[in-house]
Amino acid sequence: MDQKSQPHPPRVLIFPFPVQSHVNSMLKLAELLCLAGIHVTFLNSDHNHRLLLRHSGAHARLAHYPGFQFATIPDGLPADHPRTGDRIKELFDALSAVMRPRFREMMVSSRLGSDTKGAVTCIIADGIMCFTIDVAEEVGIPIISFRTVSASCFWAFFCIPKLIEAGELPLRGDDDDMDRPASAVSGMESFLRIRDLPAFCRVHDLTDPGLQLVTTETQLTTRAHALILNTFDELEESALTHIRTHISKVYTIGPLHAHLATRQSAEPASSLPDMTRSNSLWEEDRSCMAWLDSQPIKSVIYVSFGSITVVTTDQMIEFWYGLVNSGKPFLWVIRPNSVAGERQIPTELSEATKKRGYMVGWVPQEEVLAHPSVGGFLTHSGWNSTLESIVSEKPMICWPYFADQQVNSRFVGEAVWRIGLDMKDTCDRLTVEKMVRDLLEVRRDEFLRSVHRMAELAKKSVREGGSSYRNLDRMIEDIKSMIC
Ligand code: UDP
Repeated sequence: MDQKSQPHPPRVLIFPFPVQSHVNSMLKLAELLCLAGIHVTFLNSDHNHRLLLRHSGAHARLAHYPGFQFATIPDGLPADHPRTGDRIKELFDALSAVMRPRFREMMVSSRLGSDTKGAVTCIIADGIMCFTIDVAEEVGIPIISFRTVSASCFWAFFCIPKLIEAGELPLRGDDDDMDRPASAVSGMESFLRIRDLPAFCRVHDLTDPGLQLVTTETQLTTRAHALILNTFDELEESALTHIRTHISKVYTIGPLHAHLATRQSAEPASSLPDMTRSNSLWEEDRSCMAWLDSQPIKSVIYVSFGSITVVTTDQMIEFWYGLVNSGKPFLWVIRPNSVAGERQIPTELSEATKKRGYMVGWVPQEEVLAHPSVGGFLTHSGWNSTLESIVSEKPMICWPYFADQQVNSRFVGEAVWRIGLDMKDTCDRLTVEKMVRDLLEVRRDEFLRSVHRMAELAKKSVREGGSSYRNLDRMIEDIKSMIC
Protein backbone atom coordinates (compact mmCIF):
# COMPACT_ATOMS: atom_id res chain seq x y z
CA MET A 1 0.00 0.00 0.00
CA ASP A 2 1.50 3.36 -0.91
CA GLN A 3 1.39 6.43 1.30
CA LYS A 4 -1.50 8.02 -0.62
CA SER A 5 -3.86 5.09 -0.21
CA GLN A 6 -3.34 4.93 3.55
CA PRO A 7 -6.54 5.88 5.36
CA HIS A 8 -4.67 7.53 8.26
CA PRO A 9 -1.35 9.27 8.75
CA PRO A 10 1.33 7.11 10.39
CA ARG A 11 0.73 6.55 14.11
CA VAL A 12 3.62 6.24 16.53
CA LEU A 13 3.24 4.65 19.93
CA ILE A 14 5.58 6.43 22.36
CA PHE A 15 6.32 4.49 25.53
CA PRO A 16 8.59 6.09 28.18
CA PHE A 17 10.17 4.56 31.27
CA PRO A 18 7.81 5.93 33.94
CA VAL A 19 9.89 8.65 35.62
CA GLN A 20 9.69 12.43 35.22
CA SER A 21 12.74 13.05 33.02
CA HIS A 22 11.90 10.28 30.55
CA VAL A 23 8.26 11.37 30.33
CA ASN A 24 9.33 14.97 29.82
CA SER A 25 11.77 14.36 26.97
CA MET A 26 9.51 11.83 25.25
CA LEU A 27 6.56 14.24 25.42
CA LYS A 28 8.78 16.78 23.66
CA LEU A 29 9.50 14.20 20.98
CA ALA A 30 5.76 13.48 20.74
CA GLU A 31 5.06 17.14 20.11
CA LEU A 32 7.78 17.35 17.45
CA LEU A 33 6.19 14.40 15.64
CA CYS A 34 2.71 15.95 15.94
CA LEU A 35 4.05 19.14 14.34
CA ALA A 36 5.18 16.99 11.41
CA GLY A 37 1.64 15.59 10.99
CA ILE A 38 2.36 12.22 12.56
CA HIS A 39 -0.25 10.84 14.94
CA VAL A 40 0.95 9.83 18.39
CA THR A 41 -0.34 7.58 21.15
CA PHE A 42 1.58 8.31 24.36
CA LEU A 43 1.57 5.40 26.78
CA ASN A 44 1.89 6.70 30.32
CA SER A 45 1.89 4.79 33.58
CA ASP A 46 -1.43 5.23 35.45
CA HIS A 47 0.45 6.85 38.30
CA ASN A 48 2.29 9.44 36.20
CA HIS A 49 -0.80 10.11 34.15
CA ARG A 50 -2.71 11.17 37.25
CA LEU A 51 0.12 13.45 38.37
CA LEU A 52 0.56 14.95 34.91
CA LEU A 53 -3.16 15.66 34.75
CA ARG A 54 -3.10 17.30 38.16
CA HIS A 55 0.06 19.39 37.89
CA SER A 56 0.95 20.15 34.28
CA GLY A 57 -0.56 21.79 31.25
CA ALA A 58 0.36 18.79 29.12
CA HIS A 59 -3.14 17.37 28.60
CA ALA A 60 -4.69 20.63 27.46
CA ARG A 61 -1.66 21.50 25.36
CA LEU A 62 -1.44 18.16 23.59
CA ALA A 63 -5.20 18.02 23.01
CA HIS A 64 -4.50 20.79 20.53
CA TYR A 65 -2.95 18.23 18.16
CA PRO A 66 -5.78 16.28 16.51
CA GLY A 67 -3.73 13.10 16.13
CA PHE A 68 -2.50 12.95 19.72
CA GLN A 69 -3.91 10.67 22.39
CA PHE A 70 -2.85 9.36 25.78
CA ALA A 71 -3.17 5.73 26.83
CA THR A 72 -2.30 4.29 30.24
CA ILE A 73 -0.80 1.18 31.73
CA PRO A 74 -0.10 0.19 35.37
CA ASP A 75 3.51 0.39 36.56
CA GLY A 76 2.85 -2.34 39.11
CA LEU A 77 3.68 -0.30 42.24
CA PRO A 78 1.24 0.81 44.95
CA ALA A 79 0.09 4.44 44.70
CA ASP A 80 2.03 5.53 47.79
CA HIS A 81 5.41 4.13 46.63
CA PRO A 82 7.86 7.07 46.35
CA ARG A 83 9.38 5.89 43.02
CA THR A 84 12.71 7.46 44.00
CA GLY A 85 16.25 6.58 42.94
CA ASP A 86 17.06 4.72 46.16
CA ARG A 87 14.18 2.33 45.39
CA ILE A 88 14.52 2.16 41.63
CA LYS A 89 15.07 -1.62 41.68
CA GLU A 90 11.51 -2.03 42.98
CA LEU A 91 10.27 -0.08 39.99
CA PHE A 92 12.23 -2.25 37.54
CA ASP A 93 10.92 -5.40 39.24
CA ALA A 94 7.33 -4.14 39.09
CA LEU A 95 7.66 -3.25 35.41
CA SER A 96 8.93 -6.69 34.65
CA ALA A 97 6.19 -8.43 36.66
CA VAL A 98 3.22 -6.23 35.74
CA MET A 99 3.85 -3.73 32.96
CA ARG A 100 5.65 -6.11 30.64
CA PRO A 101 2.84 -8.72 30.33
CA ARG A 102 0.23 -5.97 30.23
CA PHE A 103 2.02 -4.25 27.36
CA ARG A 104 2.28 -7.49 25.43
CA GLU A 105 -1.40 -8.19 25.95
CA MET A 106 -2.32 -4.66 24.79
CA MET A 107 -0.29 -5.02 21.61
CA VAL A 108 -1.21 -8.61 20.77
CA SER A 109 -4.92 -7.88 21.25
CA SER A 110 -4.44 -4.74 19.11
CA ARG A 111 -6.02 -2.67 21.87
CA LEU A 112 -3.49 0.07 21.20
CA GLY A 113 -3.37 -0.52 17.52
CA SER A 114 -6.77 -0.59 15.90
CA ASP A 115 -8.89 2.26 17.15
CA THR A 116 -10.67 4.75 14.97
CA LYS A 117 -7.62 6.96 14.76
CA GLY A 118 -5.58 4.37 12.89
CA ALA A 119 -3.21 1.54 13.57
CA VAL A 120 0.20 1.92 15.21
CA THR A 121 2.79 1.88 12.43
CA CYS A 122 5.88 2.40 14.60
CA ILE A 123 6.81 2.07 18.28
CA ILE A 124 9.27 4.45 19.93
CA ALA A 125 10.05 2.89 23.28
CA ASP A 126 12.44 3.73 26.04
CA GLY A 127 15.55 1.66 25.43
CA ILE A 128 15.76 0.88 29.11
CA MET A 129 12.63 -1.28 28.68
CA CYS A 130 13.86 -3.79 26.15
CA PHE A 131 10.87 -6.09 26.61
CA THR A 132 9.24 -3.74 24.13
CA ILE A 133 11.56 -5.08 21.41
CA ASP A 134 10.32 -8.66 21.95
CA VAL A 135 6.72 -7.49 21.76
CA ALA A 136 7.32 -5.33 18.67
CA GLU A 137 8.94 -8.29 16.91
CA GLU A 138 6.04 -10.55 17.90
CA VAL A 139 3.41 -8.18 16.47
CA GLY A 140 5.55 -7.17 13.49
CA ILE A 141 5.73 -3.41 14.13
CA PRO A 142 9.05 -1.60 13.62
CA ILE A 143 10.52 -0.29 16.86
CA ILE A 144 12.88 2.61 17.46
CA SER A 145 14.77 2.71 20.72
CA PHE A 146 14.97 6.04 22.57
CA ARG A 147 17.74 6.42 25.15
CA THR A 148 17.47 9.44 27.42
CA VAL A 149 21.16 9.31 28.43
CA SER A 150 24.08 11.03 26.72
CA ALA A 151 25.76 9.32 23.77
CA SER A 152 28.94 9.10 25.84
CA CYS A 153 27.14 7.26 28.61
CA PHE A 154 25.41 4.97 26.13
CA TRP A 155 28.81 4.15 24.66
CA ALA A 156 30.22 3.46 28.14
CA PHE A 157 27.27 1.08 28.74
CA PHE A 158 28.06 -0.56 25.42
CA CYS A 159 31.67 -1.10 26.49
CA ILE A 160 30.84 -2.88 29.79
CA PRO A 161 31.66 -6.34 28.32
CA LYS A 162 35.04 -4.95 27.16
CA LEU A 163 35.68 -3.43 30.60
CA ILE A 164 35.04 -6.83 32.17
CA GLU A 165 37.18 -8.64 29.59
CA ALA A 166 40.04 -6.20 30.22
CA GLY A 167 39.79 -6.84 33.98
CA GLU A 168 38.86 -3.20 34.64
CA LEU A 169 35.59 -4.28 36.23
CA PRO A 170 34.52 -5.25 38.87
CA LEU A 171 35.96 -2.78 41.39
CA ARG A 172 39.02 -4.02 43.21
CA GLY A 173 38.35 -2.54 46.58
CA ASP A 174 39.60 0.67 48.07
CA ASP A 175 38.99 4.22 46.95
CA ASP A 176 42.32 4.67 45.09
CA ASP A 177 41.11 1.99 42.78
CA MET A 178 38.51 4.43 41.51
CA ASP A 179 41.13 6.68 39.91
CA ARG A 180 42.48 4.00 37.55
CA PRO A 181 41.84 4.79 33.87
CA ALA A 182 38.84 3.05 32.33
CA SER A 183 40.83 2.37 29.19
CA ALA A 184 38.45 -0.14 27.61
CA VAL A 185 36.01 2.65 26.71
CA SER A 186 37.44 3.51 23.28
CA GLY A 187 37.76 7.20 22.57
CA MET A 188 37.74 8.15 26.27
CA GLU A 189 40.97 6.46 27.34
CA SER A 190 42.74 9.71 28.13
CA PHE A 191 40.27 11.07 30.66
CA LEU A 192 37.73 8.50 31.84
CA ARG A 193 38.49 6.94 35.22
CA ILE A 194 36.71 4.06 36.90
CA ARG A 195 35.13 6.77 39.10
CA ASP A 196 33.57 8.32 35.98
CA LEU A 197 31.91 5.17 34.67
CA PRO A 198 28.11 4.93 34.97
CA ALA A 199 27.23 4.25 38.61
CA PHE A 200 25.92 0.78 37.66
CA CYS A 201 29.62 -0.16 37.25
CA ARG A 202 30.42 0.54 40.92
CA VAL A 203 30.13 -3.09 41.90
CA HIS A 204 32.38 -5.76 43.36
CA ASP A 205 30.28 -8.54 41.91
CA LEU A 206 29.60 -9.00 38.20
CA THR A 207 26.27 -10.68 38.92
CA ASP A 208 24.93 -7.38 40.29
CA PRO A 209 21.40 -7.02 38.83
CA GLY A 210 21.82 -3.32 37.91
CA LEU A 211 25.03 -4.00 35.98
CA GLN A 212 23.46 -6.99 34.23
CA LEU A 213 20.38 -4.99 33.32
CA VAL A 214 22.16 -2.05 31.66
CA THR A 215 24.60 -4.35 29.87
CA THR A 216 21.86 -6.53 28.40
CA GLU A 217 19.48 -3.70 27.58
CA THR A 218 22.18 -1.74 25.80
CA GLN A 219 23.32 -4.67 23.66
CA LEU A 220 19.67 -5.44 22.76
CA THR A 221 19.34 -1.98 21.22
CA THR A 222 21.10 -3.38 18.15
CA ARG A 223 17.89 -5.32 17.39
CA ALA A 224 15.83 -2.12 17.12
CA HIS A 225 15.19 -0.47 13.75
CA ALA A 226 17.04 2.66 14.92
CA LEU A 227 18.25 4.53 17.98
CA ILE A 228 17.21 8.06 19.04
CA LEU A 229 19.54 10.06 21.27
CA ASN A 230 18.77 13.40 22.88
CA THR A 231 22.07 14.98 21.94
CA PHE A 232 23.65 16.73 18.96
CA ASP A 233 26.50 15.55 16.76
CA GLU A 234 28.86 18.43 17.52
CA LEU A 235 28.68 17.79 21.27
CA GLU A 236 29.52 14.08 21.36
CA GLU A 237 31.20 13.38 18.06
CA SER A 238 33.64 10.75 19.28
CA ALA A 239 31.12 8.59 21.17
CA LEU A 240 28.68 8.85 18.28
CA THR A 241 31.29 7.69 15.78
CA HIS A 242 31.87 4.58 17.90
CA ILE A 243 28.14 3.92 18.41
CA ARG A 244 27.52 4.23 14.67
CA THR A 245 29.95 1.38 13.96
CA HIS A 246 27.51 -0.91 15.84
CA ILE A 247 24.12 0.70 15.14
CA SER A 248 23.69 2.02 11.61
CA LYS A 249 20.66 4.29 12.16
CA VAL A 250 21.29 6.71 15.02
CA TYR A 251 19.05 9.76 15.07
CA THR A 252 20.63 12.51 17.17
CA ILE A 253 17.85 15.09 17.38
CA GLY A 254 18.58 17.06 20.57
CA PRO A 255 18.57 19.11 22.61
CA LEU A 256 14.89 18.20 22.37
CA HIS A 257 13.58 21.13 24.41
CA ALA A 258 15.43 23.62 22.20
CA HIS A 259 14.48 21.73 19.07
CA LEU A 260 10.80 21.85 19.96
CA ALA A 261 11.01 25.58 20.69
CA THR A 262 12.66 26.21 17.30
CA ARG A 263 10.15 24.17 15.33
CA GLN A 264 7.25 25.80 17.15
CA SER A 265 8.58 29.27 16.46
CA ALA A 266 8.43 28.47 12.74
CA GLU A 267 4.71 27.65 12.93
CA PRO A 268 2.00 30.32 12.55
CA ALA A 269 1.18 31.45 16.11
CA SER A 270 -2.52 30.68 15.64
CA SER A 271 -1.80 27.01 14.96
CA LEU A 272 -0.03 26.48 18.27
CA PRO A 273 -1.37 25.82 21.74
CA ASP A 274 -0.99 28.97 23.82
CA MET A 275 -0.16 27.55 27.21
CA THR A 276 2.52 26.37 29.57
CA ARG A 277 5.21 24.02 28.30
CA SER A 278 5.14 22.21 31.63
CA ASN A 279 5.26 18.42 31.70
CA SER A 280 5.71 18.39 35.46
CA LEU A 281 4.58 15.61 37.77
CA TRP A 282 4.80 18.02 40.73
CA GLU A 283 3.17 21.40 41.12
CA GLU A 284 5.53 24.14 39.96
CA ASP A 285 6.10 26.86 42.52
CA ARG A 286 6.30 29.95 40.34
CA SER A 287 6.92 32.30 43.25
CA CYS A 288 10.63 31.72 42.67
CA MET A 289 10.44 33.72 39.45
CA ALA A 290 9.56 36.90 41.38
CA TRP A 291 12.36 36.13 43.84
CA LEU A 292 14.78 35.77 40.92
CA ASP A 293 13.57 39.10 39.50
CA SER A 294 14.73 40.72 42.74
CA GLN A 295 18.31 39.38 42.49
CA PRO A 296 21.29 40.92 40.64
CA ILE A 297 22.24 39.62 37.18
CA LYS A 298 24.16 36.31 37.18
CA SER A 299 24.38 36.30 40.97
CA VAL A 300 22.27 33.26 41.91
CA ILE A 301 23.36 29.65 42.15
CA TYR A 302 20.41 27.43 41.23
CA VAL A 303 20.46 24.07 43.05
CA SER A 304 18.48 21.03 41.98
CA PHE A 305 19.15 17.31 41.98
CA GLY A 306 16.44 16.29 39.54
CA SER A 307 13.38 14.16 39.94
CA ILE A 308 14.54 10.96 41.68
CA THR A 309 17.73 11.73 43.65
CA VAL A 310 17.54 11.21 47.39
CA VAL A 311 20.12 12.92 49.64
CA THR A 312 20.81 12.21 53.29
CA THR A 313 20.21 14.89 55.92
CA ASP A 314 23.98 14.97 56.52
CA GLN A 315 24.65 15.69 52.84
CA MET A 316 21.94 18.31 52.78
CA ILE A 317 23.46 20.11 55.76
CA GLU A 318 26.92 20.11 54.11
CA PHE A 319 25.47 21.60 50.91
CA TRP A 320 23.54 24.12 52.96
CA TYR A 321 26.58 25.33 54.90
CA GLY A 322 28.58 25.51 51.68
CA LEU A 323 25.91 27.60 49.99
CA VAL A 324 25.41 29.93 52.93
CA ASN A 325 29.16 30.36 53.48
CA SER A 326 29.75 31.15 49.79
CA GLY A 327 27.87 34.39 50.38
CA LYS A 328 25.95 33.99 47.09
CA PRO A 329 22.16 33.98 46.78
CA PHE A 330 20.76 30.51 46.12
CA LEU A 331 17.54 29.01 44.81
CA TRP A 332 17.27 25.40 45.97
CA VAL A 333 14.70 22.82 44.86
CA ILE A 334 13.94 20.29 47.58
CA ARG A 335 11.39 17.85 46.24
CA PRO A 336 8.98 15.99 48.53
CA ASN A 337 10.54 12.61 49.50
CA SER A 338 14.04 13.72 48.48
CA VAL A 339 15.77 13.85 51.88
CA ALA A 340 16.39 10.69 53.92
CA GLY A 341 17.25 10.48 57.61
CA GLU A 342 16.56 12.68 60.55
CA ARG A 343 18.83 15.43 61.77
CA GLN A 344 17.97 18.73 63.29
CA ILE A 345 18.66 21.63 60.91
CA PRO A 346 20.88 24.18 62.72
CA THR A 347 18.97 27.42 63.33
CA GLU A 348 21.82 29.48 61.83
CA LEU A 349 21.16 27.85 58.45
CA SER A 350 17.45 28.68 58.46
CA GLU A 351 18.27 32.23 59.57
CA ALA A 352 20.90 32.74 56.85
CA THR A 353 18.47 31.37 54.24
CA LYS A 354 15.97 34.09 55.08
CA LYS A 355 18.57 36.63 53.95
CA ARG A 356 19.99 35.01 50.85
CA GLY A 357 18.20 31.80 49.98
CA TYR A 358 14.93 30.61 48.53
CA MET A 359 13.80 27.00 48.87
CA VAL A 360 10.95 25.44 46.92
CA GLY A 361 9.52 22.02 46.17
CA TRP A 362 9.59 22.11 42.35
CA VAL A 363 10.18 24.85 39.78
CA PRO A 364 9.72 25.44 36.06
CA GLN A 365 13.39 24.56 35.54
CA GLU A 366 13.80 25.63 31.91
CA GLU A 367 12.46 29.07 32.81
CA VAL A 368 14.61 29.28 35.92
CA LEU A 369 17.75 28.43 33.98
CA ALA A 370 16.88 31.02 31.35
CA HIS A 371 16.50 33.75 33.99
CA PRO A 372 19.24 36.41 33.79
CA SER A 373 19.79 36.38 37.58
CA VAL A 374 20.94 32.76 37.53
CA GLY A 375 24.71 32.60 37.21
CA GLY A 376 25.29 28.87 37.63
CA PHE A 377 23.70 25.51 38.33
CA LEU A 378 24.61 23.09 41.12
CA THR A 379 23.22 19.92 39.57
CA HIS A 380 23.20 16.14 39.92
CA SER A 381 24.19 16.02 36.23
CA GLY A 382 21.04 14.38 34.93
CA TRP A 383 21.23 14.52 31.14
CA ASN A 384 18.17 16.75 30.70
CA SER A 385 19.44 19.19 33.30
CA THR A 386 22.84 19.23 31.61
CA LEU A 387 21.37 20.02 28.19
CA GLU A 388 19.01 22.64 29.63
CA SER A 389 21.93 24.31 31.40
CA ILE A 390 24.06 24.34 28.24
CA VAL A 391 21.31 25.88 26.11
CA SER A 392 20.72 28.55 28.79
CA GLU A 393 24.47 29.26 28.96
CA LYS A 394 24.77 28.41 32.66
CA PRO A 395 28.00 26.79 33.87
CA MET A 396 27.59 23.91 36.28
CA ILE A 397 28.89 22.40 39.49
CA CYS A 398 28.26 18.68 39.23
CA TRP A 399 27.41 16.35 42.06
CA PRO A 400 26.39 13.16 40.26
CA TYR A 401 24.13 10.79 42.16
CA PHE A 402 23.77 7.64 40.04
CA ALA A 403 23.09 6.06 36.63
CA ASP A 404 24.59 8.08 33.74
CA GLN A 405 25.40 11.12 35.87
CA GLN A 406 28.98 10.12 36.74
CA VAL A 407 29.88 10.16 33.02
CA ASN A 408 28.09 13.45 32.33
CA SER A 409 29.87 15.27 35.14
CA ARG A 410 33.28 14.15 33.85
CA PHE A 411 32.45 15.66 30.46
CA VAL A 412 31.15 18.92 31.96
CA GLY A 413 34.29 19.38 34.07
CA GLU A 414 37.86 20.26 33.22
CA ALA A 415 38.61 16.98 31.47
CA VAL A 416 36.50 17.58 28.37
CA TRP A 417 34.02 20.45 27.84
CA ARG A 418 35.30 22.78 30.59
CA ILE A 419 31.89 24.29 31.23
CA GLY A 420 31.91 23.63 34.95
CA LEU A 421 33.39 21.80 37.91
CA ASP A 422 33.04 18.14 38.80
CA MET A 423 32.45 17.69 42.54
CA LYS A 424 31.96 13.93 42.22
CA ASP A 425 31.96 11.80 45.38
CA THR A 426 32.19 14.62 47.89
CA CYS A 427 29.97 17.40 49.12
CA ASP A 428 31.74 18.71 52.19
CA ARG A 429 30.90 22.31 52.99
CA LEU A 430 34.38 23.70 52.18
CA THR A 431 34.36 22.18 48.70
CA VAL A 432 30.83 23.42 48.02
CA GLU A 433 31.70 26.94 49.20
CA LYS A 434 34.89 27.08 47.10
CA MET A 435 33.27 25.72 43.97
CA VAL A 436 30.34 28.13 44.17
CA ARG A 437 32.78 31.04 44.48
CA ASP A 438 34.94 29.72 41.64
CA LEU A 439 31.95 29.28 39.36
CA LEU A 440 30.23 32.60 40.05
CA GLU A 441 33.22 34.82 40.71
CA VAL A 442 36.84 33.63 40.43
CA ARG A 443 36.59 31.75 37.11
CA ARG A 444 33.25 33.09 35.99
CA ASP A 445 34.34 34.63 32.66
CA GLU A 446 36.22 31.57 31.53
CA PHE A 447 33.23 29.29 32.18
CA LEU A 448 30.78 31.72 30.63
CA ARG A 449 32.86 31.89 27.46
CA SER A 450 33.04 28.13 27.02
CA VAL A 451 29.38 27.48 27.80
CA HIS A 452 28.40 30.28 25.42
CA ARG A 453 30.34 28.56 22.59
CA MET A 454 28.61 25.28 23.35
CA ALA A 455 25.17 26.90 23.53
CA GLU A 456 25.76 28.41 20.09
CA LEU A 457 26.53 24.97 18.68
CA ALA A 458 23.43 23.53 20.34
CA LYS A 459 21.18 26.24 18.94
CA LYS A 460 22.72 25.93 15.48
CA SER A 461 22.11 22.17 15.48
CA VAL A 462 18.34 22.62 15.89
CA ARG A 463 18.00 25.46 13.38
CA GLU A 464 17.03 24.71 9.77
CA GLY A 465 20.03 23.05 8.12
CA GLY A 466 21.61 22.08 11.47
CA SER A 467 22.56 18.48 12.27
CA SER A 468 19.69 17.70 14.67
CA TYR A 469 17.20 19.47 12.42
CA ARG A 470 18.24 17.37 9.43
CA ASN A 471 18.30 14.18 11.49
CA LEU A 472 14.75 14.77 12.72
CA ASP A 473 13.58 15.30 9.13
CA ARG A 474 15.27 12.03 8.12
CA MET A 475 13.65 10.24 11.00
CA ILE A 476 10.22 11.62 10.12
CA GLU A 477 10.64 10.36 6.54
CA ASP A 478 11.69 6.98 7.91
CA ILE A 479 8.59 6.82 10.12
CA LYS A 480 6.34 7.90 7.26
CA SER A 481 7.72 5.09 5.10
CA MET A 482 6.74 2.44 7.68
CA ILE A 483 3.46 0.89 6.65
CA CYS A 484 2.03 -2.04 8.56
N1 UDP B 1 12.85 19.68 36.60
C1 UDP B 1 11.84 20.61 36.71
N2 UDP B 1 11.70 21.27 37.89
C2 UDP B 1 12.51 21.05 38.97
C3 UDP B 1 13.56 20.11 38.84
C4 UDP B 1 13.69 19.44 37.64
O1 UDP B 1 11.10 20.84 35.77
O2 UDP B 1 12.29 21.68 40.01
C5 UDP B 1 13.00 18.94 35.33
C6 UDP B 1 14.23 19.38 34.58
O3 UDP B 1 13.94 20.51 33.79
C7 UDP B 1 14.59 18.15 33.77
C8 UDP B 1 14.05 17.00 34.62
O4 UDP B 1 13.18 17.57 35.60
O5 UDP B 1 13.96 18.18 32.51
C9 UDP B 1 15.15 16.25 35.34
O6 UDP B 1 15.78 15.44 34.42
P1 UDP B 1 17.28 15.00 34.53
O7 UDP B 1 17.57 14.13 33.35
O8 UDP B 1 18.16 16.16 34.70
O9 UDP B 1 17.37 14.19 35.89
P2 UDP B 1 16.57 12.94 36.54
O10 UDP B 1 15.31 13.49 37.08
O11 UDP B 1 16.37 11.91 35.47
O12 UDP B 1 17.48 12.46 37.61
